[in-house]
Amino acid sequence: MAVSDHVDLPTFLEGVKKRNPGQPEFVQAVQEVAEDIYDFIKDKEDYHSEQILRRIAEPDRVVSFRVCWEDDNGNVRVQRGYRVQNNNAIGPYKGGIRFHPSVNESVLKFLAFEQTFKNALTGLPMGGGKGGSNFNPKGKSVREIMRFCQSFMTELYRHIGADVDVPAGDIGVGGREIGFMFGQYKRITNQFTGVLTGKGLEYGGSLIRPEATGYGAVYFLANMLRTKGQDLVGKTAVISGSGNVATHAAEKIVQLGGKVLTFSDSGGFIHDPDGITQEKIDWVKEHKTKRRGRIQDYAEQFKGATFTEGKTPWGVPCDAALPCATQNELNGEDAKTLVANGCKAVSEGANMPTDLAGVHVFKDARILYAPGKAANAGGVAVSGLEMSQNSERRSWKEAELQQLLLDIMEGIHTSCLTYGQVDKDHVDYVKGANIAGFKKVADAMLAYGVV
Ligand code: NDP
Repeated sequence: MAVSDHVDLPTFLEGVKKRNPGQPEFVQAVQEVAEDIYDFIKDKEDYHSEQILRRIAEPDRVVSFRVCWEDDNGNVRVQRGYRVQNNNAIGPYKGGIRFHPSVNESVLKFLAFEQTFKNALTGLPMGGGKGGSNFNPKGKSVREIMRFCQSFMTELYRHIGADVDVPAGDIGVGGREIGFMFGQYKRITNQFTGVLTGKGLEYGGSLIRPEATGYGAVYFLANMLRTKGQDLVGKTAVISGSGNVATHAAEKIVQLGGKVLTFSDSGGFIHDPDGITQEKIDWVKEHKTKRRGRIQDYAEQFKGATFTEGKTPWGVPCDAALPCATQNELNGEDAKTLVANGCKAVSEGANMPTDLAGVHVFKDARILYAPGKAANAGGVAVSGLEMSQNSERRSWKEAELQQLLLDIMEGIHTSCLTYGQVDKDHVDYVKGANIAGFKKVADAMLAYGVV
């Protein structure tokens, strides 16, 4: 066997940096995984000689394309679209589409890389991918969004398929955008297949898909608390974001007896010491999604609430924190503040919301800390179930899906315990999730030989 393949971790990471210049998010994601995997594979010759980690950290392909569209004033606009197909060792590529000005190749490569492990953790046969565009839906009319989605799909359609690559929504892409894209796919190909998930119920969508990511992150939190003999009743929670994941996480916390104190958006955060009730959550959903409003309006709508401009909510004391907005929204200092204020558990609804320094703070403090790839896997899990329903050409009942979501989140939690139990009092969920996800994909890759 090729002994020279046994490069040490710093050398491996140096190579990742060199091969991916100007891609800090991708390098960060690989580093976080490699830190755990290196220890796990140190005595596993096959993984080394077959260069498995190096291969997983090199996407199968990155497709980049021009998206032209016309705005309401007749101006021609040009955006860049992408699809990163990271790994299909255990199933068709699967992962969301993001429309946000911050989208670039680095962000999508990190998301596709993370998605590969997350999808493996669900136990469903799905590979990892991610796509999107630097298109900013904010301030655009519905017609403009429709024209953009149609133009985006006019190129993307040739790279995807129900057994090839099945995109879904993500930041800036909800049910409406999925509808526009599915409509265009159907129009171009003349095929009605399960090529996208997150569809409307009338045309092949699954019940509980919109709720699944946020609900799943709270189920995972509840599973972690259970290992300490605790539950959510009477616990306070601080949530960032006010989109799909944040509002559904809040809803489930309220249902399970907890008290939600905050929401945020890119303008700042609101703090409601009286607790954000279901009625208030419904207002936020309506305001942010339908009216495309700002979270600061919450403070005018509900007495007792305050808005803090340009800040994240991590300074508000809480029992549990759920970052549900975007990547790197919680840094080392924020993590220290949370721990100092008595936060006992963190469940990541967003992808990689905590930067590397923050991850190390949580790990060192030995609090219950669930990384996004484990905690937010409920969304893609129900997307996987939507694919199954589309293949069967039938719709499953809500109760059945709710139970499957609960079971899948519990299964992911158990996988984390299997590989992340550090001692009798502490589980390293990051390590557990990384190793469990990696092992499944790696073993499939070994079976295929050098491809
Ligand atoms: P939405 O577009 O519905 O909501 C995103 C929220 O995050 C908004 O409140 C938005 O505020 C805020 N936000 C976005 N960027 C920033 C920023 N740079 N700084 C501060 N706030 C920001 O997206 P989702 O809820 O679907 O996704 C949120 C996170 O969850 C993402 O990391 C996504 O990848 C992850 N995720 C989503 C899944 C899903 O099923 N939807 C599945 C798994 C993970 P504003 O309105 O001001 O932009």
